Amino acid sequence: MKVLKFGGSSVANAENIQKVVEIVRQASADEACVVVLSAMQGTTDGLIEMGRAAERGDDGFIGKLTQIRDRHNTAIDLLFRNGNTSPISEFVESTLHELESITEGVRRVRELTPKTLDRILSFGEIASSRMVAAKLTAEGIENEWHDSRLLVRTDSNHGFAAVDFAETNKRLKEMIGKSKTLLRVLPGFIASDTGGYTTTLGRGGSDYTAAIFAAALDAEILEIWTDVSGMMTADPRFVRNVQQIPRINYREAMELSHFGAKVIYPPTIQPVMAKGIPVRIKNTFAPDDEGTLIEAESAPSSEMVRGITSIDEICVLSLEGSGMVGIPGFSKRLFDALSRAEINVILITQSSSEHSICVAIEEKYSELAKRVVDREFEYEINLGKIDPLKAESGFSILALVGDRMKEHTGVSGKMFSTLGHNGINIHAIAQGSSERNISAIINSKDVRKAVNTLHEEFFSDGRKQINLFVVGVGTVGSRLLEQLRQQHDYLLENMRLNVRVVGLANSKRLIVDEEGIDLSRWKDVLSGPSDSELKPAETAKVIAERNLRNSVFADITADAAVVEMYPTLLEKSVSVIACNKVAASSEYKKYSSLKDLAREYNSNFLFETNVGAGLPVINTLNDLMRSGDQVNLIEAVLSGTLNFVFNNYDGSRKFADVVRQAQDEGYTEPDPRLDLSGTDVARKILILAREAGHRLEMADIENVPFLPASCFEGSVEDFYAEMAEQEDHFRKLLDDAGSQGLKLKYIASLVDGKASVGLQSIGPGHNFANLSGKDNAVLFYTNRYADQPLVVKGAGAGADVTAAGVFADIIRAARS
Ligand code: ADP
Ligand code: ASP
Ligand code: MG
Repeated sequence: MKVLKFGGSSVANAENIQKVVEIVRQASADEACVVVLSAMQGTTDGLIEMGRAAERGDDGFIGKLTQIRDRHNTAIDLLFRNGNTSPISEFVESTLHELESITEGVRRVRELTPKTLDRILSFGEIASSRMVAAKLTAEGIENEWHDSRLLVRTDSNHGFAAVDFAETNKRLKEMIGKSKTLLRVLPGFIASDTGGYTTTLGRGGSDYTAAIFAAALDAEILEIWTDVSGMMTADPRFVRNVQQIPRINYREAMELSHFGAKVIYPPTIQPVMAKGIPVRIKNTFAPDDEGTLIEAESAPSSEMVRGITSIDEICVLSLEGSGMVGIPGFSKRLFDALSRAEINVILITQSSSEHSICVAIEEKYSELAKRVVDREFEYEINLGKIDPLKAESGFSILALVGDRMKEHTGVSGKMFSTLGHNGINIHAIAQGSSERNISAIINSKDVRKAVNTLHEEFFSDGRKQINLFVVGVGTVGSRLLEQLRQQHDYLLENMRLNVRVVGLANSKRLIVDEEGIDLSRWKDVLSGPSDSELKPAETAKVIAERNLRNSVFADITADAAVVEMYPTLLEKSVSVIACNKVAASSEYKKYSSLKDLAREYNSNFLFETNVGAGLPVINTLNDLMRSGDQVNLIEAVLSGTLNFVFNNYDGSRKFADVVRQAQDEGYTEPDPRLDLSGTDVARKILILAREAGHRLEMADIENVPFLPASCFEGSVEDFYAEMAEQEDHFRKLLDDAGSQGLKLKYIASLVDGKASVGLQSIGPGHNFANLSGKDNAVLFYTNRYADQPLVVKGAGAGADVTAAGVFADIIRAARS
C-alpha cells in the first residue's frame, strides 16, 4: 500500500491534473494506493477571502465565488472534453450553490465563525478530489472516492483541529476492508468532529491527512507530490542555487518544516515517524527526479548544515524587570497566560541574569499577547517590579538545521560572523540543546539577504557573490568595467568570487539590475530605456534599500557629493572603494570617522588608488605599520602628470603644450590645475602621512608653488593661455637646473611628521633621477629599511593601471 498526496499546484488546472492522473495510473498499476488531494491552487485562499468579504457585508464575495466557479468549470471542460461532463459538472455546480447560500447567510448575519469557515473551505478539497476521481474513471482507472470527513475524527477546534487517532484509524481500516477497488481517492485537509461538523487540520494540512492515512494503513511509503524536486537546502523562491537534499532523517525534516520549509506541513512527520514509514517528496512536473527521501536514519552528508529556513511575521515579546530576578514562577505565569490564550510559542530565550525573557510568537497574536500578559502581571507592573510587556513586530526567525552541527565546532560562530559582515542585526538567538537547530531573530527586511548569505557560506563550495555598484564611468570607470568583464570567469574559477556589477551610475542616471548588468553592453544599458528613473544622488539610498549581500561600492568620480554617501553605505556594511581622493584628504575628522565606521560595521573603506594609481603604496605602508615597523621618512614622486611634464619639457616645445599633451593622454586630474598647483601631490602625501599615523590637515602641508599665481585665474582655457604667456618663467626653471647638471622633479616628503611638496632640482645620483615618463616612486625609510629604503615604483597614472588598482581593492574587500 502506498499513499500519494498531490498539492495545490499539482491540481491547479486541467493540464496538471492530467499529469496527476498519469502518475496515479503508474503507481496503482500493481499496488493498492490511497490518493489524497489538496484544493486547486489558490482555492483555499480564495474561499477565505470570499468568506471575509461576506462577513464585511461586501457583495464582492459574489465575484470571488465566480472566479472559483470559473476555474473549476474550465478545468472540467478541458478534462472531459470528449466525454460526459455532466455528473461532475452537476456535482460541482450543486456544491457551489450550497456554498453560495452559506456565504449569503454569512453576509446577512455579518459573522463568519470558524465552524462556518471550515464548512466553506471544505469545498476546495471536495471539488478537486471529485474531479480527479472522475477523470481517473473516465480514463478507465477504477477507483473509489471517499469523504475524509466521515473518516478522520477530530475535536472541535475549528481551523486547527486535533485528530482522534483511535477512532480515525478504526474507521480507515474499516473503509479499506469494505472497499472494492485498490485505488481510493480522498480529499485532504478536511475532517469532522463528534457532532459531524466539518473541521480542518490547519493550512497545508493535506500533507497531514496523507500521513494519518499512511500510518493507519501501514503503508510502505508516503509520497508527497508537489512543485519542487524535493526538500532543498533553502526555499527555492529565495535562493537561486539551492541544492536538492537526496536523503534526510525525520528529525531534521521536522525541524526544517517547523522552521519554515513549507514543502511539508510540520505535523506530517509525526505519524509516519512513529511507524517508521518513509516519506518521499516528489515533483509532479518532473516525476523522474529522485526527490527527497525522509527516513529514520539517513546516510550522513558531507555538509555541516542540512538546510536554512525562515519564518516571517514574527512578533518578539520581551518581559523585563528587576523584580523578576531569582523569583521562581515568572516564566511559568508568562507561558500559562500565553497558553490560556492559545498562543503558540515558537522560540524562547532567557538571559542568565533573569532580567528578561524573550519569546517569539506569530505576529497576528501580538495584541492579544500584550493584553493577556499585562493582565497576568498587573500587580507587579503596578508595583514597578516589571515593565509592561514589550511586543515588537516585523521580525523573522532564521534557522540553520542539521544533525551534524553538533559534531562541528564553530557553526554558530560562522553563522553570526557571516551575518555581522553583512550588517544584519541579530535581535535574539536560540540554540536547542539537541544542537539540531540554531535560530536567530532578525529584522524581516534582512531575511532574503541573510538566507542567501548563509546559503552561500554553507553550501556553495566557498563561492561568494559580490554585488558591485560602480559610480562614475569615465576613462577609469570604463576600463574597470572592461577588466571586470574580462576577469569574471577567472575570478570565479580561481578565487570563487562571482563579481556582478548590479548598479552603474554616471552623472545623470543610476541603473540597477540585481541579476547583474551585461558588461559587454553597459553603455547601451546606461543610455537605453529603463523602467525606473533612478538618480545618481539616490545611490546610497537605493543600495541600502536593495540590501544585497556582500555589497561593494566603487566611487570612480572626483565628486565631493558622492563622498557624502560613504557614511550611509559603511553603516550598512557596504564596502566603499574610493578612487575619489576627496574623502581621505578631507578634514582629519572625516577621514578617521569613515575608517571608524568601516571598523564598527565590518565593512571596508579602501583607497589604494588615491596614491600612485595602481601601485601598492598604501597597502605596503599599512603592512609595514601592522608588522610594527616605524616609518621615519617618506620621499616620493607622486604626480604622474608632473613627472611626465618635467620629463618631456626640454625647451623644444612650450611648457603649456607639454601639459596639454599630458591631459590629452589621460594622466591629469579632470582639472589639470589640481596637478600643476601641487594640490594633488599634497593630498597624496597627506594621505600617506595619515596612514603612517600622523594627524595632519591639508593646511599643515608646506607647498611652494612653482607656477605664477596668475595661472590660476579664470577657466582651464585661461590657465593654458596664461601658461603659454609665462613660458619664460618655465624656461628659466629648466635652464637654471640644466646649467648645474640637475633635473627638475616634483617631490613630496614626510620627515618627522612634517610634510611638504615642491619642485626640486636633483643630481644624477638621486634615487629619482632615472624616473621616466609618468612613473611614480615612493621611498620608505623605516626602522627596518634604514639604510636602503623600501621602494615602490612604476606607472603612477593612466586609466588602465588606476582601474586595476580599484579592481584590486574590490577583490580585497570581497575576500575580507
Ligand atoms: P503544495 O501545494 O504541493 O503542498 P507547497 O506550496 O505547500 O506545495 O510547498 C512547496 C513549496 O515549498 C515549494 O514551491 C517551495 O517554494 C517551498 N519551500 C520552502 N522551503 C523549501 C525547501 N527547503 N525545500 C523545498 N521547497 C521549499
Ligand atoms: N488547501 C489547504 C491549504 O491551502 C490544504 C493544503 O493544500 O494542504 O491550506
Ligand atoms: Mg503544502
